[in-house]
Amino acid sequence: MSFFDKMKSGLSSGLSQVKDKAQQTVEVTRLYSTISTKRKDIQQRYGELGELVYRASGVGKGPRVSESEAEAQMARICAEVARLEIEVEQLEEEMHRVKGEKVCACGTAAPLQSKFCSRCGKSFPTPVSSEPIDIEPVDPARASGQQYLKPYEEVQTQAGTEKAPSMSCTQCGQSLTVNDRFCISCGKPQG
Ligand SMILES: [Zn+2]
Ligand SMILES: [Zn+2]
Repeated sequence: MSFFDKMKSGLSSGLSQVKDKAQQTVEVTRLYSTISTKRKDIQQRYGELGELVYRASGVGKGPRVSESEAEAQMARICAEVARLEIEVEQLEEEMHRVKGEKVCACGTAAPLQSKFCSRCGKSFPTPVSSEPIDIEPVDPARASGQQYLKPYEEVQTQAGTEKAPSMSCTQCGQSLTVNDRFCISCGKPQG
């Protein structure tokens, strides 16, 4: 192989990596925007639910809605929110898969090779397969909306900091970030 051939092949493999990375970024951006649209839809429906409660209360001057009418509409809206939440969950799973992450039941994203969750210490099922991750059944607490916003924000925060390993496991030497409460390799509690 001539010098120029080597350069060309090196260049083209470099370029294809960049392209894959760019495609990944495009895909993540697309998923992120779809997720945020659906989350806004959910927020809007929360607003509709609130207005229905107010209209049915008989307090104030606005147009009234009968209790039975309000109940029927609220049931419909709640079903829509539940459907949107499942869609968001599936999109989040897809986003983590595209980014090469898996997600613990506690909502924390982790690199595919992790054996333990860095936040709650739960062990991940082994062996790690490259098969799509099964969608977990919707947790009733999350479905009710009470904890809906929090886990998502935490995932985002963690995802932003995970590429800065700044300490090592005291037991096995695994590189960890300061946010890790448990070793992702041996599960030993940190700090
Ligand atoms: Zn966890
Ligand atoms: Zn360890």
